[in-house]
Amino acid sequence: MKNYLLFILTVSLFASCNLSKKPENAAFVQEEPSGNDLYLAVMWQKYSAEYRALCYQSYQQAGQLIQLNSIQDKTLLTPAVIVDVDETILDNSPYELNLIRTNIRYTAESWKAWVDSAAAGAVPGALEFCLKAQELGIHILYVSNRKINETEATLKNLIALGFPYATADHLYFKEESSSKESRRAVIRNSYQVLLLIGDNLGDFSDVFQDRSQHFGFHQVDSLRQQFGTHFIILPNPMYGNWEDGLPKNI
Ligand SMILES: [Mg+2]
Repeated sequence: MKNYLLFILTVSLFASCNLSKKPENAAFVQEEPSGNDLYLAVMWQKYSAEYRALCYQSYQQAGQLIQLNSIQDKTLLTPAVIVDVDETILDNSPYELNLIRTNIRYTAESWKAWVDSAAAGAVPGALEFCLKAQELGIHILYVSNRKINETEATLKNLIALGFPYATADHLYFKEESSSKESRRAVIRNSYQVLLLIGDNLGDFSDVFQDRSQHFGFHQVDSLRQQFGTHFIILPNPMYGNWEDGLPKNI
């Protein structure tokens, strides 16, 4: 009996050790992501219906808000919505997928080549929202950290997809600082900003930039009333300032 129990214990231990280890046969390795931390994030954005649903949810909410605002709030300034570009209205998951396929990391050169191809698709719901804004006489202002030398290719991409207000005077791209605060301040001199739409909290305010204290949760908690009313956030699991605060040990 004692030997039998010992045998069962040994088999169980062996089995549990194997469960915690990845099989090392070639077939399994080919199906698994090659340890690339982008894999699941890109797959989710590109292939999950949940991602699409979340985008539609965000833009539907945004559409309802501008409809309401266009009726209630009339001022002398031109009404506008500030939108970020990448992962807000343009979907760059094909670029990220290619990084995985070729097993390379992001480089400024590969990104520039992707932008120049003007091949990004629209984030679900984004185009319909922007066209609705245009119908209501609300301008779309594209505030992005794409570089100035990416203006022409970005406009080509936006025009090909049918985005309204795709002109240089509606683009506020990065010149020096990654902070968008000064660009938003310039915009507020001429426009009444009804709504800000982005995938990164820095698309709304610089108060969210610091993630060193508890991942920046406190800032989001303290401004929770703004989300869904003045700020509309889209999902982006692939990259963002959220990476700055990740714990060293998990
Ligand atoms: Mg973005």
